[in-house]
Amino acid sequence: MKASNSDHHRSTIIIGAGAAGLTAAIYAARANLKPLVIRGPKPGGQLVTTSNVENYPGFINGILGPELMRCFEAQAARFETELRQGTITTVDFSQRPFHLVVDREQSLLADTVIIATGATPRYLGLENEQRLLGRGVSSCATCDGFFFQGQDVAVVGGGDAALENALFLTRFADHIFVIHRRAQLRASKIMQQLAFSSSKLSFIWDTRVKDILGDEELEGLLLEEVKTGETSILPVKGLFVSIGHRPNTEIFKEWLEMDELGYIFTQPDSTYTSVAGVFACGDAQDRVYRQAVTAAGSGCMAAIDAERWLQTNHSLKSKIAKEIKQLKFMLGKKLKE
Ligand SMILES: Cc1cc2nc3c(=O)[nH]c(=O)nc-3n(C[C@H](O)[C@H](O)[C@H](O)COP(=O)(O)OP(=O)(O)OC[C@H]3O[C@@H](n4cnc5c(N)ncnc54)[C@H](O)[C@@H]3O)c2cc1C
Repeated sequence: MKASNSDHHRSTIIIGAGAAGLTAAIYAARANLKPLVIRGPKPGGQLVTTSNVENYPGFINGILGPELMRCFEAQAARFETELRQGTITTVDFSQRPFHLVVDREQSLLADTVIIATGATPRYLGLENEQRLLGRGVSSCATCDGFFFQGQDVAVVGGGDAALENALFLTRFADHIFVIHRRAQLRASKIMQQLAFSSSKLSFIWDTRVKDILGDEELEGLLLEEVKTGETSILPVKGLFVSIGHRPNTEIFKEWLEMDELGYIFTQPDSTYTSVAGVFACGDAQDRVYRQAVTAAGSGCMAAIDAERWLQTNHSLKSKIAKEIKQLKFMLGKKLKE
């Protein structure tokens, strides 16, 4: 297969350098596509914001998130992957090759594009929240719940995700406080029934987290009753912020089909999007699992899908070119007779 690889025209451009994008890079590079990865505003992705990752296969004693992502990137670079700093600011998927702009100035062309821009968990926006991220504050109960065996923890939020997280945490934590700023939950009735029937859960209504306390590790929360303004301290060792995720897909909205939250639709059992030649993987298209291993898995799928698509497209193009050449030859022959 012939890959287009001038400096600004590539056969495969991968947008994003988290678990999905870097896995796609490893597979695309090993398929000889010489991929270009645009690393974006957060090289390494969400895992660089956490400490211990204990559920990524292959690491018996776990591994630090930033170290894991350094390994991903080094492995991608070992093959012929070019990693470039910059953010894709606009795309044009109306014709092929696709047109991408980096940092509002540099133009790139791509025969295939793999979108691996991930999602951003929503946080409360408190200064101490970012400081204590990975030291008691988390946005992922599946990832970090295990670290809170026998401790008291809190979950902020009132939707299905918050209750799912709270119920998941009942396996480890001693007690879970669900803090919600209203007097009613948004979660589905069935989730509410499950939550209300757990003796490990209790609800703190009409309350917001005003501050997060602790020097090196989370030690408690400063709560404020929204109606009265009354404050109190809740001593907990963990805080799971469960107020949703925002997929980083704004720049693709004009071109690709997405759900109401902005997760890109992919065809079942594949990474094909609504535009042929554009593939999506990782958290940008996954509102259900959102794990490093599932992101990596779908990154692998995207590279294989892109490689096969290029192969088929190229074979088809050469077949048509061959047929046109043959027709021209026949026509020339006829005209001479
Ligand atoms: C605090 C925390 C702890 C977690 N712990 C675990 C855990 O223990 N185990 C686990 O399996 N999962 C964990 N997760 C979830 C896991 O991090 C994600 O599922 C995974 O990172 C998703 O990978 P991704 O490549 O799809 O996206 P991301 O990791 O979000 O990476 C997205 C990439 O896209 C880039 N990007 C975004 N926009 C653009 C743009 N316009 N142009 C170019 N590049 C762009 C970013 O710079 C980034 O490199 C955790 C998440 C958080 C937040």
